[in-house]
Amino acid sequence: MIWQPPASVSWMARLGGLVGRGGSGTLAGHALAVRKGFQMRLTFLLVILSVQPAFAQELPTIHVLYQSPNGSTFNRTCPQFTKTAIKPEWIKETVARRSEFQADWDRDGPQYMRAALSEIGLPFPYREMQANLTVCPNVSSMSDPLLLNVRQFLSDADSPLPRGQFAFALYHELMHHYVRPVLSSSALITKYAGEPPQTQNHLHVMALEKLALVKLKRDSDLMKYTNFNAAYKRAWQIVNDIEGYEAFVKELKAVPRSAVRPE
Ligand SMILES: [Zn+2]
Repeated sequence: MIWQPPASVSWMARLGGLVGRGGSGTLAGHALAVRKGFQMRLTFLLVILSVQPAFAQELPTIHVLYQSPNGSTFNRTCPQFTKTAIKPEWIKETVARRSEFQADWDRDGPQYMRAALSEIGLPFPYREMQANLTVCPNVSSMSDPLLLNVRQFLSDADSPLPRGQFAFALYHELMHHYVRPVLSSSALITKYAGEPPQTQNHLHVMALEKLALVKLKRDSDLMKYTNFNAAYKRAWQIVNDIEGYEAFVKELKAVPRSAVRPE
């Protein structure tokens, strides 16, 4: 995922050397071949340096957390402030399946991240993040603090979500962090200033979801925003039907790297 200069340079040097030895047997021919070899090496170096920003974005390490044996502190206290109850078996199952959720992210998540970061070219603001699981009723997944409600993945959910949905849900929350630098400068958000904040905050996020699915040729069923509340539906309508996701991607690509700050 990260460009390794020493290996690439030595590979280029070997290739340049082969080109250099390919000249004629005369002294002038040899000098010409050496110069050509040098030019080849320089050209390869410049080409690789020029394309590096497009694919060398470092992906963040994501740690999926849920403490054994009693779940998170947040889960233990949430029944008090949400006035709801958590069944002990939800916590037990989530503790048992924490590594499964981590594996689901490790399998699919980096592909989504790479699809977005390689296209946009901006670095992710953090090198590592901790994604806390929760089964607290009435607490939805959120980016800040980073919480993933996995209640609908558990075995006693009405219709348990497929495992593949978890990595995409986490990718969605991470993209809220990634698009933050564009929010203050986006002409498209200004254009839709009359929409609810939840709609505005999801325009670029949904565009990056769509981008990843298009690049990876994945099933767009992962974006079931027609089942969501009105603000999400409206955001999806703007991204998919009115503006097209490419318009939001274009705005993100224009954001300077200096605007990315881990705060
Ligand atoms: Zn969201």
